[in-house]
Amino acid sequence: MSDLIQLLPDHIANQIAAGEVIQRPASVVKELLENSIDAGATKVDINIKDAGNTLIQVVDNGNGMSSSDALLCFQRHATSKIRNANDLFALTTKGFRGEALASIAAIAHVEMRTKQEDDEVGRSIVIEGSQIKSNEDTVCPKGTSFEIKNLFYNVPARRNFLKKDSTEFKHIQDEFERIALAHPSIHLTLKHNENDIYIFPPTVLRKRIVQVLGPNFNDRLVPIEETSDIVNLKGYVLKPEFSRKTRGGQFLFVNDRYFKSSYFNHAVSKAFDGLLKDRTFPGYFLFLQVDPQRIDVNVHPTKTEIKFEEEKYIYSIVLSSIRLALGKYNIAPTIEFEQENSFNIPLSMRKQTPIEPSISIDETFNPFSPSSTTTRANNSGAKKDYSEAITNQGFGKDTSTPSDWENFYTIEEENNIEEEKVEIPFEDFKENEQSFIIKGSYIIFSSKSGLMLIHARRAIEQIVYTETFNRFISNPIDSQSLLFPFEKEVSKNETQYWNENQSLLKQLGFNGEIEKGILKVSAVPSVLQDESISKAIDEIFNTVAYQDIEKGDVAHSLILAIAVSASMKKLILNTNEAIQALIDQLFQCENHTYSPRNKKIIETISLDEIGQKFN
Ligand code: ADP
Ligand code: MG
Repeated sequence: MSDLIQLLPDHIANQIAAGEVIQRPASVVKELLENSIDAGATKVDINIKDAGNTLIQVVDNGNGMSSSDALLCFQRHATSKIRNANDLFALTTKGFRGEALASIAAIAHVEMRTKQEDDEVGRSIVIEGSQIKSNEDTVCPKGTSFEIKNLFYNVPARRNFLKKDSTEFKHIQDEFERIALAHPSIHLTLKHNENDIYIFPPTVLRKRIVQVLGPNFNDRLVPIEETSDIVNLKGYVLKPEFSRKTRGGQFLFVNDRYFKSSYFNHAVSKAFDGLLKDRTFPGYFLFLQVDPQRIDVNVHPTKTEIKFEEEKYIYSIVLSSIRLALGKYNIAPTIEFEQENSFNIPLSMRKQTPIEPSISIDETFNPFSPSSTTTRANNSGAKKDYSEAITNQGFGKDTSTPSDWENFYTIEEENNIEEEKVEIPFEDFKENEQSFIIKGSYIIFSSKSGLMLIHARRAIEQIVYTETFNRFISNPIDSQSLLFPFEKEVSKNETQYWNENQSLLKQLGFNGEIEKGILKVSAVPSVLQDESISKAIDEIFNTVAYQDIEKGDVAHSLILAIAVSASMKKLILNTNEAIQALIDQLFQCENHTYSPRNKKIIETISLDEIGQKFN
């Protein structure tokens, strides 16, 4: 039997590898531009002829290479960026596979000049189809320049596969824009057939976006910012009215590397739920900073697909921070006293200056700490706050309780409230910060522009949700160990759900193991107590069992499950101060108009509307 196996010659191996890394002229632009950035360049000029078919020239002012490195860089697996396998898990550079230059040199005519700062002379190398044609000293400035000609000259199949010039140049422009957005401080220029396409002087992100998209965009950007242990998120989304018919304006970056992710894209779309016109897509420029050890950029040869260890967590951060930002900029439905009322104000009155609602907010108040007191409480000495009302169940008459508060009002379950009608006790109505609770369900109080009605249970749900969420992003959530572990029999499916979501549950403050079909929970988030623990665990199983993990936001739903369970126990609001504290606390939530389950929390009735009822 004769032996059949032989090793491929290097230039063939390089050509095959090139097929993966270099698919079209735009891939060359991307690889060379990324190399320039890795080499510390502060200015890179790109000159393209005939969509890259005739020439791709990239000139940088980076660190350059020594004479021997200049030759070595064209070898396959030659890289200065990693030394051992461990470095793969702490990447700070764009390249690391040592494949790009070897691939390009295998399928094109390449001329490179490079010089390091302290070297007297530079080095010029000409290489064609992996063959070195010349290698000599040259006079050139510090940095590196590449000229790539006759791309795919020896791979006709690939050459024939290329699209028309305008399409190929569009691809080049796309790659250029992605890198430009990720590196606003780098001076970048792009020329095509002697026309200046882009000249981007160094700037900051917002201005770079405007450089790329045009001056109109400045007013369309809504800033996004969130910091947590696992991910720092910053960037901009486009106001919903500027959403586009194509997905063109969607940019995701992790550690300044552009990537694609339908999963995070879904998070953004979800944040825009209900705000977009039909068949339009939100625009966004989102930059995630994540510990390089917690991502894997090695899953795709062109590195545009990236695996995240904590993707569910990041999903929820993306979703919530965009929702928050849209709300803050009054884009998502938020309560706007003047605006809401203006619907009811006669035309003649609309020109009058609106009156600011007077709501006092106590920054320090925390419903989770029974010892915290509101500003109001501080001012008046012995008054009870909302959290005390929860802890003490409100029994025992406070000396400062107004005489109207003979009755204790209990907040009932959500289901019972739905049918109840709101009756406004006009005889009890007093102006200024007095508030009342009606049938244990609604809080009514007077604002300067009219009456405000608050759905009490939803308000509590929002308060607990916001607080829990804020703790979640400043990971980990306060967790309390249970003296006696909570035990529950679980099915096979439930075991699987629990195990699949272990890391998320841990971040949420749960610690539990399943052995022989019994779940033993030894720690839970501190907001849960007694009966709300079992309620929360049931809710969690409901959540993860019915949530489509690819599509849904599990973290959001789990936090909601905790919030709902924590707020389920019967609460008694028996003093004006407790109610007022609840109102204050609600208004500290950035989103205080809609509950986390998207139900309305606040309704206003303008003075004008009240007046009309008496006509
Ligand atoms: P990688 O970027 O994955 O390391 P490349 O084939 O793209 O692999 O480049 C090989 C090596 O050549 C790089 O690691 C770097 O040391 C060197 N190099 C490439 N381009 C430049 C440049 N513009 N300036 C300085 N060094 C460069
Ligand atoms: Mg590279």
